[in-house]
Amino acid sequence: MAGLHPFTTRAAPGQAHLRIMATTDLHVHVYSWDYYADRPSDSVGLARTAALARAARAEAANAVFVDNGDFLQGNPLGDFIAYERGLDSGAPHPVIAAMNAAGIEAATIGNHEFNYGLDFLTGALAGAAFPVVSANLVTRRGDDPRADRLLVPPYAILDRQVIDGAGRHHALKIGVIGLAPPQVTVWDRHHLDGRLTARDMVEAAAAWVPRMREAGADVIVALAHCGIGAAEHREGMEHAAIPLARLPGIDAVVLGHSHLVFPGPAFAATDAVDPVAGTICGKPAVMPGFWGSHLGVIDLMLERGAGGWRVIAQGAEVRPIAGPVPGSHAGPPADTVAEVLDAARDDHEAALAYVRRAVGRTRVPLHSYFALLGDDPSIRIVAEAQRDYVARMLAETEHAGLPVLSAAAPFKTGGRGGPQNYTDVAAGPLAIRNVADLYIYPNKIRAVRVTGAELRDWLERAAGVFRRIEPGRADQPLIDPEFASYNFDVIAGVSYEIDLSQPPRYCPAGALLDPSARRITALMHAGRPVADDDVFAVATNSYRAGGGGNFPGTGGDTVIFEGPDTNRDLLLRYVTEREEIDAPGPPAWRFRRLPGTSVLFETGPRGAEHVGRLDALDIETIGETSEGFLRFRINL
Ligand code: MN
Ligand code: MG
Repeated sequence: MAGLHPFTTRAAPGQAHLRIMATTDLHVHVYSWDYYADRPSDSVGLARTAALARAARAEAANAVFVDNGDFLQGNPLGDFIAYERGLDSGAPHPVIAAMNAAGIEAATIGNHEFNYGLDFLTGALAGAAFPVVSANLVTRRGDDPRADRLLVPPYAILDRQVIDGAGRHHALKIGVIGLAPPQVTVWDRHHLDGRLTARDMVEAAAAWVPRMREAGADVIVALAHCGIGAAEHREGMEHAAIPLARLPGIDAVVLGHSHLVFPGPAFAATDAVDPVAGTICGKPAVMPGFWGSHLGVIDLMLERGAGGWRVIAQGAEVRPIAGPVPGSHAGPPADTVAEVLDAARDDHEAALAYVRRAVGRTRVPLHSYFALLGDDPSIRIVAEAQRDYVARMLAETEHAGLPVLSAAAPFKTGGRGGPQNYTDVAAGPLAIRNVADLYIYPNKIRAVRVTGAELRDWLERAAGVFRRIEPGRADQPLIDPEFASYNFDVIAGVSYEIDLSQPPRYCPAGALLDPSARRITALMHAGRPVADDDVFAVATNSYRAGGGGNFPGTGGDTVIFEGPDTNRDLLLRYVTEREEIDAPGPPAWRFRRLPGTSVLFETGPRGAEHVGRLDALDIETIGETSEGFLRFRINL
């Protein structure tokens, strides 16, 4: 074990070293297990992060361990509890039990905590042995933030005894405030409409932090379930780290939500952000990865004076449980804490049995390696299951005459998740874990009514994933890494081409960039061009229909059908009813030909097994990249 931290050895009488340890975005990862691949994954799991926390605690005279939200949803263990086991037995939720066993002392609520509804969240939190706080999740809005009625208490004051450099004990009140992105009310509108609203994070923190000082907080830690975004505050901003850190009274900031690592090279140095020292506006900050990949460690040297305790020195770091990149398996993994594993063991094993259950078969491999090139059997089966369901649901309604289209996007396309982060289901038996791999989010089925013009703009919004390509040039990078692949909706039931020589009409976040830009061409339905005033029903999910991704034709008032089932459940039913999934029909779209032009595309190395089936593409393999992806050239 490492020795004592210098702040502990150096502390003079009246000075105390306080260490804040943090996890974020656990997404129900307690065991080091990939439930989709059904194999160990050393770079995830709270049982290992908790071992790092034990070691880090032993290095400091005084320490506190917190979690920053998004713990309740995100893997099949979470689904098993929500959909199969439930909470009625009174047994605690396994991730809450594991957080209790890990010694978490306070936590906040992330956006994904709402995915299974408010009642499930409330039931899960009832098992927490630690306070759960959030200052901007409002059940009844008041005239100002301090008059709001909130879902959970806005903050907690942890009464602790700390030991100073002379070995003397002092009372120390550690204030912990929580904040969540206000977009939760859009993302989970179907669960929250009429039950929960959200205030701006900075507005709420500015109101509550002085109250915490009045209540005696000596030190204040902000658990901000958000990333690092713009330096200037804007009402309702999703990534408010900088304006939050700038607030007087906040001493340290724990970040998350973006699933990145801070301090670290993922962030550029700016006036406000020091990605080497780990400070934002001079305050120490950490973003400890996701799925338990890292432990965040903030060190404060506190000095007691006439005005109370103040911070006189600080540090911030992150400690990985395995290699530097989740999934890379480089470097020895941390130990596990037996009590944390024990707390979730029965549910983990039941979840393994649940996900291994075979429900059907597929004659073709279902994978996402080439989803962004137009050939994606994994999207097509999702789209077909949605279309089939919505067509039946609309049959008895006033919308029965509408042609039913279906929008689906690839959720696993490498990116930050690394070269293993692809959907990959071999031909043969299909188990629940395979179906869960085809649809990883617990969205619910929706249908919207759109015009031909809105349909075209929906596809334009999705086509923003591609960079603009200059005709006649070789080897141009194809994908804009800023674009989240879950926003690359493919719409089945129409056919179209994407003209990469044209600029994107929308930016990666969804704002209209260039009203004259058009990439979607040859948009056809039932053998004829789509007219602007045609009308369609589009099967989609609750996230998209509610306005997630800011797509034309979505946002609330276009919704014509809201189903109680998750898209995954109806996919599961579709597979179960058919028994055997056959080769899908032709792809919905292709690139418009640009002779003499080539682009570069990267995918997971196991994509090599499927490249021979890409009949519609002129594609050649180049080789592996330093990050472990496989690179291809496509002649357009
Ligand atoms: Mn998350
Ligand atoms: Mg989040």
